[in-house]
Amino acid sequence: MGGTFDPIHHGHLVAASEVQSVFGLDEVVFVPTGRPWQKAGRGISDPEHRYLMTVIATAANPVFTVSRVDIDRPGATYTTDTLKDLSALHPDADLFFITGADALQSILTWRNNHELFELAHFIGVTRPGHELDTSGLPEGRVTLIEVPAMAISSTDCRVRVAAGNPVWYLVPDGVVQYINKYALYTGGDDGGEQ
Ligand code: ATP
Ligand code: MG
Repeated sequence: MGGTFDPIHHGHLVAASEVQSVFGLDEVVFVPTGRPWQKAGRGISDPEHRYLMTVIATAANPVFTVSRVDIDRPGATYTTDTLKDLSALHPDADLFFITGADALQSILTWRNNHELFELAHFIGVTRPGHELDTSGLPEGRVTLIEVPAMAISSTDCRVRVAAGNPVWYLVPDGVVQYINKYALYTGGDDGGEQ
């Protein structure tokens, strides 16, 4: 499951858990992005902070792990590189790339998308207010699934922290404490992206 995870929240975790269960996946690998080219416009938190919050949030689940492939690769993050690195690490695995329907839309319209479909099956999770246009996508390589509605976004969490409002129960407890410990999201750059 790819994401910026700035911060990781319960919407991500519910989506991952639902896809894991529906598809009977052996493992869900959370992959925090390095420098997402789609989000070049705003200051994104240090990759180490995003990585550690993801580790904290997933630590208790035996089938959730976190990968550093994107944060350790220099330059912008492209999904083809992510999938090639993961497939080198797990040569016998059938890869499913899980992401939100919004992110899936931009990934699938990217230039090398024919190559993407050879690397993984794509699963788009839908949430309120985000529709995916599947016209023109290869048959059988993309599945959309509905996950229990969680009207939470990282943007909203950052805005709340910046305004001094609580994010308890929107993100895991350890993530609330991590945000406080390092005074993340207090600088007023809310990003403003869903
Ligand atoms: P931001 O507000 O900064 O864009 P985000 O909440 O969308 O953050 P990302 O790290 O961009 O979080 O999310 C990774 C993926 O998880 C995205 O494809 C996104 O659509 C999906 N996602 C985010 N929030 C939810 C949610 N509440 N339910 C289901 N999927 C979600
Ligand atoms: Mg987003």
